Amino acid sequence: MRPATAVIDLAALRHNLAVAKARAGGARVVAVVKANGYGHGAARLLPALGAADMLGVACIEEALGLREAGAVQTILLMEGVFEADELPLCARLGFDIVVHEPGQIRMLEQARLDHPLAVWLKINTGMNRLGFRPEEVPAALDRLQGCVAVASGIRLMTHFASADEPSSPATREQIRRFAATAEGLGLERSFCNSAGLLAWPEAHAEWVRPGIMLYGVSPLEGRTGAEEGLRPVMTLETRLIAVREVRAGEAVGYAGTWRAEAPTRIGIAAMGYGDGYPRHAPSGTPVLVNGSEAPLAGRVSMDMLAIDLSGQPEARVGDPVILWGAGLPVETIAAAAGTIAYELLCGITGRVHVELRDGPPPD
Ligand SMILES: *Cc1c(COP(=O)(O)O)cnc(C)c1O
Repeated sequence: MRPATAVIDLAALRHNLAVAKARAGGARVVAVVKANGYGHGAARLLPALGAADMLGVACIEEALGLREAGAVQTILLMEGVFEADELPLCARLGFDIVVHEPGQIRMLEQARLDHPLAVWLKINTGMNRLGFRPEEVPAALDRLQGCVAVASGIRLMTHFASADEPSSPATREQIRRFAATAEGLGLERSFCNSAGLLAWPEAHAEWVRPGIMLYGVSPLEGRTGAEEGLRPVMTLETRLIAVREVRAGEAVGYAGTWRAEAPTRIGIAAMGYGDGYPRHAPSGTPVLVNGSEAPLAGRVSMDMLAIDLSGQPEARVGDPVILWGAGLPVETIAAAAGTIAYELLCGITGRVHVELRDGPPPD
């Protein structure tokens, strides 16, 4: 068996959800598990998500997969429905829908459902991606409240563009607009993604929607999950499948971008961009070999990468290599590769083996 493996630690996920709940004060939690649980495999995460009040996904396909896997909570479709024929299924299976666009209101006005749907009205407070402008909200609410397909108790939500920069004036302005729009309506509100939850406590309101922090990653600039008391859920690991000595002046890997200045031991690990490891991680990006840091040497290939083992004269074929996770924050690898941890986690491919670990729930 090729050793490339993503170890998924359910105890860490349970812990991170508990941290999110504690940091959110009394707010209820939508645990965001879109994009297949940020690449961790949403269905396999369910045993650790029992404490979530709701689950959040992008679309009905993702919600159906979770229901089939036994999810009991309400599931929120955060982009709502794409076609009217999804509405009866949402009503039957207990999916809440976001309404962000007039066409979605028309679909609801024309729908004939067995029972009404719970709707979250999305307000555009400055992200300019989805949602109604504040001045359009009263009319949209009127139409929704007059709709037999819509349950009473519509909720309001918005999404931050820059909550990862603490003290961002843009976030302060988004909070002000959303609060002003919601004022006096008596409806439940939701502002916060993970960054909002961690950095903007004044915006916790009735519901928060953490995603990335549940996986142990800090969304805040320059901080790691560990600094927020979070534990990595995914550890990406493999083994050395070859160890060789290269001579001074010899190059390693495609295009020979790394060249030995002196005789150097090079380890080859079974992990590449075909597994979701970023091809743009440059020479020098750290990995852990036998628990100690060693730098990448040369370009990442589809199935392999090369490691400079100068500091590890004892390393041998079969030794364990950690690419990120326990002991090596994925944030560090993302920064080295010029991307964000979200993209690395979501990008793990189907050929990587998955190993579930679990422990007792925290006291
Ligand atoms: C993805 C998403 C979230 C979660 O964001 P994180 O940064 O991962 O916490 C919350 N709300 C909406 C609408 C989203 O699309």
